[in-house]
Amino acid sequence: MVGAPGLYTYGAMRIGGIIRDAGFHPKITRDLSQLHGERVFLSLYSTLHLLDPFIKETVRRIQHEGGECIIGGPVSSGPEMVLGELHPNLVVCGEGEEAVRHIMNGEEYANCPNCAYLADDRIVKTEQKRMQDLSFPPPLIPDDIGTQDIRGAQTYIETHRGCFGRCGFCQVPRVFGRRIRSRDLDEILREVRAFQKKGVRKIALIGGTGSLYRSKDGEVNSGAFISLLEGISSIMGQKNVSCPDIRADCLTDEVLEAVQANTIGWIFFGIESGSEKVIGLMQKGIPIDKVRDAIDQCRQFGVRPAGSFITGYPGEDEEDFQATKDLMEELSLDDVFVSIAEPIPSTPLAELICKQSPETDLVSIPHTGEYKGLHLTEAEARAFDLMLHADMCRPVPRITQDDQYKNYLNEARKQGSDIRNVTRLLRQYYPR
Ligand code: SF4
Repeated sequence: MVGAPGLYTYGAMRIGGIIRDAGFHPKITRDLSQLHGERVFLSLYSTLHLLDPFIKETVRRIQHEGGECIIGGPVSSGPEMVLGELHPNLVVCGEGEEAVRHIMNGEEYANCPNCAYLADDRIVKTEQKRMQDLSFPPPLIPDDIGTQDIRGAQTYIETHRGCFGRCGFCQVPRVFGRRIRSRDLDEILREVRAFQKKGVRKIALIGGTGSLYRSKDGEVNSGAFISLLEGISSIMGQKNVSCPDIRADCLTDEVLEAVQANTIGWIFFGIESGSEKVIGLMQKGIPIDKVRDAIDQCRQFGVRPAGSFITGYPGEDEEDFQATKDLMEELSLDDVFVSIAEPIPSTPLAELICKQSPETDLVSIPHTGEYKGLHLTEAEARAFDLMLHADMCRPVPRITQDDQYKNYLNEARKQGSDIRNVTRLLRQYYPR
């Protein structure tokens, strides 16, 4: 059986397809209380899952019932934490398809690539491999996939792996590498048809940054990207496709025309900060002027630009934060997503945050400025301030109503609390 908490993740559906291809009859669930069986694959996509009492209990229950619990997904970048917190039988690390094939063939853990497990209280890691051929059997798509809503889409699909970027907060180049490996277009389109047949009405593309499909050495392959979008939209319909993430330095006029003609017409740029200093600390590699150009270019082609901003990055001072607010105002984006810098295992940011002294840790030091009465930490106050600011900076400014104000406040507090919990965990398993 295969499961993921609360969602049919693309990864869980892919693993289900591989198990079925090996001659078994797997079931998939997003309700962990339904997970049973002699071999259970659990896909976890947030470090917070490692602290979730229900997930801990689920793993214990499966083992108590005599089953073997195997955990994979984005949490597998920190196998020590997964083994230490959840005590599964096995962790499948990074690209897990090959490992699952070996496991389903009944091979010993020691002979399965990309695995980590405990033997005599010692962590054993097997050979770590990246797949050269991204051809897979069709995913295991549940009958009720049409009831799912992940930011407006019923599912995401993978078109390629890797990103040539080096952003210090991002897992993609660490897990999938910096060289782009792309899937075959016919296989992607077959998968899209299969999702549609099962009730998917809206589909979004994952893969780090959309326009890098079939690119080489950071050069956008506009022709391949256009064929990809045209192919998917010819099946799903233009208004039912989104390709949200594109790097600001990976745009061409042809890419924008294709986005405008074949998708809902939005691009989400990772802008992150208005301070060149912080952009440098993040190793983002995209000068702010390039972002300005990309947003102008989007508007020329009738594509609506949105952006994500990260605050509380180690080294961000008041002046840097003000520069981010100024940039947000100048760009007047159609939508904005704000987050506090999150230490995702295996990233340089996680290492930086773990090494910080308490006096410089923005997510822990109390805020003493404008929002002092709200008892926020400095990073929480900056995130909250940016969320409010974003409302004022839209093309048509929005007055933040009381409910929304409370939502922003709760969101900033939750992010701060989650990050402190994750940081504690990282420091416990990966001490300085
Ligand atoms: S450009 Fe996007 S996918 Fe690539 S490293 Fe940066 S954040 Fe990650």
